[in-house]
Amino acid sequence: MQEKIAQLESIARQLEPGPEQRERVNAKVLAYAGSFLNGIYDIKAYEETPDKGIGIYDSPISDEPAVIEDVLENLKVNVDHQGLNPASGGHLGYIPGGGIYYAALGDYLADVMNRYSGVFYASPGAVRMENMLLQWMYDLISYPADSGGNLASGGSIANLIGIVTARDASNIRSKEFEKICIYMTSQVHHCIDKAIRIAGLKDCHKRIIPLDDRFRMDPDALEDQIKKDTQAGLIPLMVIASAGTTDTGAIDPLDLIANICQTYDIWYHIDGAYGAFFMLCEEGRKKLTGIQQSDSIVMDPHKGLFLPYGTGAILVKNKHDLIQSHYYQANYLQDAIEEAAEVSPADVSPELTKHFRGLRLWLPLKLYGLRPFKACIEEKLALAKYFYRELEKIEGFERGPEPDLSVVTYRYLPKSGNADDFNKKLVEAIRSDGRVFISSTMIDQKFTLRLAVLSFRTHKDTIDLALSVLKEKVALLSNT
Ligand SMILES: *Cc1c(COP(=O)(O)O)cnc(C)c1O
Repeated sequence: MQEKIAQLESIARQLEPGPEQRERVNAKVLAYAGSFLNGIYDIKAYEETPDKGIGIYDSPISDEPAVIEDVLENLKVNVDHQGLNPASGGHLGYIPGGGIYYAALGDYLADVMNRYSGVFYASPGAVRMENMLLQWMYDLISYPADSGGNLASGGSIANLIGIVTARDASNIRSKEFEKICIYMTSQVHHCIDKAIRIAGLKDCHKRIIPLDDRFRMDPDALEDQIKKDTQAGLIPLMVIASAGTTDTGAIDPLDLIANICQTYDIWYHIDGAYGAFFMLCEEGRKKLTGIQQSDSIVMDPHKGLFLPYGTGAILVKNKHDLIQSHYYQANYLQDAIEEAAEVSPADVSPELTKHFRGLRLWLPLKLYGLRPFKACIEEKLALAKYFYRELEKIEGFERGPEPDLSVVTYRYLPKSGNADDFNKKLVEAIRSDGRVFISSTMIDQKFTLRLAVLSFRTHKDTIDLALSVLKEKVALLSNT
């Protein structure tokens, strides 16, 4: 038996590289990341490849170790130069992601130390760090200091937590769920619909409130619908407003909706996954007036704070509501149930064991300070306006409304032929070219192009490039 243990141990210890081995592998990994970053302003925003990373299957997981050089080459060929490159400033589609470097170092440290950040008892400092970051966000949107919140994996989970909290705070019994009404617009993010289903509310009435001509919720129509539903004996549960829709960046009239929610005593949830961090600049704060009157709000650090993917946040004004929906008790955790000096993430989220997300947010905020974040977010608003203005100078483009935030919608009207077909070809031509990446959507049944500015690497030269690529491809397509 002891011989067997010793034999196993000698193999098991391979999981602990010594200082030299660590050094060697670190150097290779850092060199790989370094060369990626050194070329980041030159590589394509979209790389079309016929193989689509299929080569990853040629190297299956096996008992035998591979060498770092081969593994990195595999990663480079099959993953890092395939499809959309979200780290590129030329990513101007969907809602662009970030990837600020010090967040990666935060992840590195979080993973090496592997602090257990789910429960205060296990890692008080880590939990306090996450709570401190949440307090900074409460302050940013003028929520009270004793609000509740959670750093989730993204906006979808954060919205789910918000909707579950609203459901439970209402004290509506499940047998009455089919009387529930939830108010939103057609422009709400699809994760809301998904969250409503996961929350067991799929039989509720989803009231799609009409939009004004700038794709914002019409507050009068909202109030009318609430009155009708109340008279019909239904139960208005919550209004879900968007602070920056994904499609057009439109902001619903947050303050007017707040008044209505207050009058009729309805939970007010704001999906600010994309737009809430525009609170970091004066212009954004003006546009988001009323945000602080909500009961819960979602904001995504992996969008507006330029973090790498994997961090969203839910803030709930009444922290007891949040805890009431997500607390837990378990015999095997009895040691953890102590004095409640701090709310533990596990008390306010479906998760127990989780990544120590706070560190990837804390490190960059500390090392850069807020100033560059504020400038960067304000720059994005200005760049969207700049694109909107410059686009007017190019003949043939029809523009959507002036952007509320950093998304611009537009389409080209060809002199002859079907406009939808032309714009479809245009977006495909730009994708094949790859220098910049834009996406499309359907607005009022029209195939519409979008330009979304949110990457911290997008600057004026990127927008000028996008304009010249657009001109070039329009000319090319017009001549075929
Ligand atoms: C991106 C987005 C979401 C979804 O967030 P994920 O972080 O992708 O899960 C929800 N709502 C809006 C408005 C968004 O832009």
